[in-house]
Amino acid sequence: MFSDKDSFKQAYLTKLIEGEGITPDEASLWDKFSALVVLMKEKMSLYRAINRNSISPGKQVYYFSMEFLIGKLLHNYLVNFQIEDLVREGLSELDINLDDLLEQEADPGLGNGGLGRLAACFLDSMAFLGIGGHGNGIRYQYGLFEQKIVAGNQVEVADNWLKNGYPWETRKPEKAIVVKFKGNVRTEVKEGRVAFYHENYEAVLAVPYDVPIASYDNPLYINNLRLWSAETTCGELDLACFNRGEFDQATSYKSEVESISYILYPDDSSRAGRELRLKQEYFFVAAGLGSIVRSYKKRNNLSSLQDFSRRVAVHINDTHPVMCIPELIRILIDEEGMGWDEAWNITVNTLSFTNHTIMPEAMEKWPIDMVKSLLPRIYQIIEEIDRRFKEDLKRRFLDKEEVINNTQILKDGYVRMANLAIIGSSSVNGVAQLHTEILKKEVFKEFYRIFSYKFNNKTNGVNYRRFLLAANPKLSSLITEAIGPTWKEDAGELRKLHGLKDDPSFLEQLAKVKYENKCRLAEKVKAKQGIDLDPMSIFDVQVKRIHAYKRQLLNVLKIMHLYNKALNDPESLTGSQTFIFGGKAAPSYHYAKTVIKLIYALSQKIEHNPKVSEKLKVIFLENFNVTQAELIYPAANISEQISTASKEASGTGNMKFMMNGALTLGTLDGANVEIKEAVGEENSFIFGLTAEQVLNYTRNGGYKPWDEYHASADIRRCVDQLSRGFFDNMGEEFRVLYDSLMIYNDEFFVLKDFRSYLEMHEKLQTLYLNQEEWNRISLVNIAESGIFSSDRTIREYADKIWKIKYRTINNLTCS
Ligand SMILES: *Cc1c(COP(=O)(O)O)cnc(C)c1O
Repeated sequence: MFSDKDSFKQAYLTKLIEGEGITPDEASLWDKFSALVVLMKEKMSLYRAINRNSISPGKQVYYFSMEFLIGKLLHNYLVNFQIEDLVREGLSELDINLDDLLEQEADPGLGNGGLGRLAACFLDSMAFLGIGGHGNGIRYQYGLFEQKIVAGNQVEVADNWLKNGYPWETRKPEKAIVVKFKGNVRTEVKEGRVAFYHENYEAVLAVPYDVPIASYDNPLYINNLRLWSAETTCGELDLACFNRGEFDQATSYKSEVESISYILYPDDSSRAGRELRLKQEYFFVAAGLGSIVRSYKKRNNLSSLQDFSRRVAVHINDTHPVMCIPELIRILIDEEGMGWDEAWNITVNTLSFTNHTIMPEAMEKWPIDMVKSLLPRIYQIIEEIDRRFKEDLKRRFLDKEEVINNTQILKDGYVRMANLAIIGSSSVNGVAQLHTEILKKEVFKEFYRIFSYKFNNKTNGVNYRRFLLAANPKLSSLITEAIGPTWKEDAGELRKLHGLKDDPSFLEQLAKVKYENKCRLAEKVKAKQGIDLDPMSIFDVQVKRIHAYKRQLLNVLKIMHLYNKALNDPESLTGSQTFIFGGKAAPSYHYAKTVIKLIYALSQKIEHNPKVSEKLKVIFLENFNVTQAELIYPAANISEQISTASKEASGTGNMKFMMNGALTLGTLDGANVEIKEAVGEENSFIFGLTAEQVLNYTRNGGYKPWDEYHASADIRRCVDQLSRGFFDNMGEEFRVLYDSLMIYNDEFFVLKDFRSYLEMHEKLQTLYLNQEEWNRISLVNIAESGIFSSDRTIREYADKIWKIKYRTINNLTCS
């Protein structure tokens, strides 16, 4: 194993020649990339083996998530093992450019956005903190589509991320699990108890692929992300399987089975009520729990699961994996022979649940008939949970009609997954203070009365070693020069930067780094999309999924207003501004796709008007993903976090911008509230309705967008421009946006917040003229961003939910 440049070169060449059977001259960039990955993987396996022999395994955490948006791994792992420089130099002596190899890696799009990215950040922090914490998910053959913009229209291209293979993964066929669908349940009284037999089922083989998870400066802790792939239970050449029926039938059976892990559903924050989605959910739950139970018995040399919840924690990321609850009960009763009460207690004590949304359209529910036919035994167990829960309410005199209505699992022909999750787990957490309060007071207020002890808050965090240390090397060096390197392990140390608040030369260096990051982004944009960005202009950035509640439309209306202003009098605009958008729209989400089109139309309109284009520029960056994100966050001056208050549970983009020194222009929503508290009122730029005001309007009515329309000529002009005459040849195109505001009563209060948004934006423009003050505020944002490290979040989960120990970092103070 290598430890310096020369031993690295030796090991690398050996790998290339032995592994690929080629000399460096013959090898393609892909071969060279793969060889480096394989070398890193072997390094990690070795560490893992050492760890296994030296540390007794404590309680293990399994993080179940439908999505893991992990991003590219190679560069991060070189940073984490602190070998980037020696590898770079070693390769360069072999005439290989490391950056060329990094380019080769696929960015696995196994998630839609924030939820999947959170899961990935948590894996890093668990490894960093020395927690045996593993991910459990699905190995989608196709990830989230790749986005192309053609004449302003989003075009979805399949994300064939596995086409060259994925060298980080290891297939473990010997660890496969059989997952059973459909069929019927036969009961039999045996030795005085009822036994359940699931018969005539369709078997699907779940085959795991493992990806090693390694964090910073903790090489002995290599965790595992296990992703499941669906295959038929017969081998490809098992003729018996094909001979049983028609060949056609056999192949269609094969593709039906494989379809389970074929593709990720591209809907963010909304339900996809299709049977295949339900199959996916049960598939990775059953596979994951099956393999956990098997390795639990082996690891602990036990035949009973009595102590399961003391040694295993299963966390479910949103309701998608909630079938963990009935599935674990099924295992304990049907396979382990336990009675209901024991199985129930173990299950509840093992499971914990994170809620991610309060939006009604995102609350998962499944038709009872579908669940019943696809998962007959699981459905029986859900029925029993529901029955016992209602009985319990009665016993506690809590069975008022409104309580039952809002808490029962089975209602109006549907299984309501959030209710199952709350009843069947020991902890329910929201993802930011405000969000958790809304859960307790509004969405789950009946549950909060029944189970107040289960509810708690865990404000999200992000992997700052990815989004600051690795993504922003220039800022990282500057920080290290100023306060030493310990911040890389303890983000709370960033507070020491406050000491440089009044150091003009440091503030100037900070501005220089920002400028260079803007140049880096501009170069990439030029190369990819052929568009010039002016790094001297202010970069005002909104990158995230396109969604009505995130209000990209509000941002666009603001720019339309600035356009109108510039037409009248170009001098009325201070400085020059670049508005950067990015984000994918769900393919079936017409409104969101129209917003993309609108951004494009506006950028064209501005481009064609030289008087305005000197001051304003609008660009839509294609295909926003983790790789793009790592380029964009470090280059932003302004972070647009403008969701309708109460709608964004937490947000994590807001945190990534903040730690890279952008100033937040946002509403009091999600974690923006906590960002404001951290940096102080004077260093954050907050506008708009509060969550309470929004919820009041929603409850009592009283908001009339027409009042806003009539009250302001500026608003009227922009809104009218949506509907007619402004955008050439696009007469009716934006009707859906106009209608959302004026016909469907502006559900997200765009017009209501318009004025205060403009004012706050203008305040920022003026502030930018005072560079020193701007840079000072930027510094305060970086200095206070430590609390948004996912290390802090995971320490809280470990202390309060999972009840598990973690390593303390070199006696440093932890934030
Ligand atoms: C952080 C991140 C998100 C979440 O962004 P929000 O602004 O919180 O919605 C989505 N996608 C990617 C690729 C990210 O890195």
